[in-house]
Amino acid sequence: MRIAHHAGRLVLLEPGTDPDEPRGIDVAAAGSDADPQTVYEHWDAFRAWAATASFAAAVPLDPAALGPVVPRPPQVFGIGLNYRDHAAESGMDLPTEPVVFTKYPTSVTGPRGDVRLSPGDVDWEVELVAVIGRGGHGIAEADGWDHVAGLTLGQDLSDRVTQFAAPPAQFGLGKSYPGFSPLGPALVTADELRADGLDPDDLELGCLVNGESVQKGRTGAMIFSVPALVARLSAVVTLLPGDVVFTGTPAGIGAGRTPPRFLSEGDELTSWCTGIGQMRHRFVGSR
Ligand code: ZN
Repeated sequence: MRIAHHAGRLVLLEPGTDPDEPRGIDVAAAGSDADPQTVYEHWDAFRAWAATASFAAAVPLDPAALGPVVPRPPQVFGIGLNYRDHAAESGMDLPTEPVVFTKYPTSVTGPRGDVRLSPGDVDWEVELVAVIGRGGHGIAEADGWDHVAGLTLGQDLSDRVTQFAAPPAQFGLGKSYPGFSPLGPALVTADELRADGLDPDDLELGCLVNGESVQKGRTGAMIFSVPALVARLSAVVTLLPGDVVFTGTPAGIGAGRTPPRFLSEGDELTSWCTGIGQMRHRFVGSR
């Protein structure tokens, strides 16, 4: 199952739909609960309804009108240094426990449109994002996937000046300017990815700046997998339906380049993940 947030409404995407030319049905018009955020609070019931939905009324969606698939997450977790190659480019040792930080929920935005540059050096970090369906505390790693509603794509945009203004690093502030947490274009369930011949534990993802590939990796290279992160996070924090987990970025961030490279006014950032689709953002506002 794939869902999207289109023009403020929850949409169930037609099976086989091209992620870049999506078609779907309006969930409210089709008779189910239709809030793009609260749907995660009764995810099992929604999935049961979606399994019987008719796509006779499916219509093309306007990609420009897509919103974040999780518009108001109660909690937004970020994971640092979760890929060996990114830990190396950051000059850091491999973590033995997940490096966890918070992105504040007001930084969430949709998969298309403009993002205003913050005053510092703005960097890209393409990431797989896990969305919690069934919440809980003390979830076993073996049960981790059962608590995930689905996967989407995210950018953990980061102002490196704010982040590293003074030791220790300010991850939460540096990554929470308005628009610094794009999510989309769709939420895809793990079983749907498997039905498409993809492995939800090993998806390819990357991003391009003005058409030039800058990041490309596979989520199978993550040090802590999605179910491992659900277990480690829920060992401490009670997870809630609609929480999102940015699972970390592969190598290729701007700060890791020689010389460093950051986003400028007019730059176009295209992010992609197999089975999920693309996000496209343009950066506005002079620094
Ligand atoms: Zn990140």
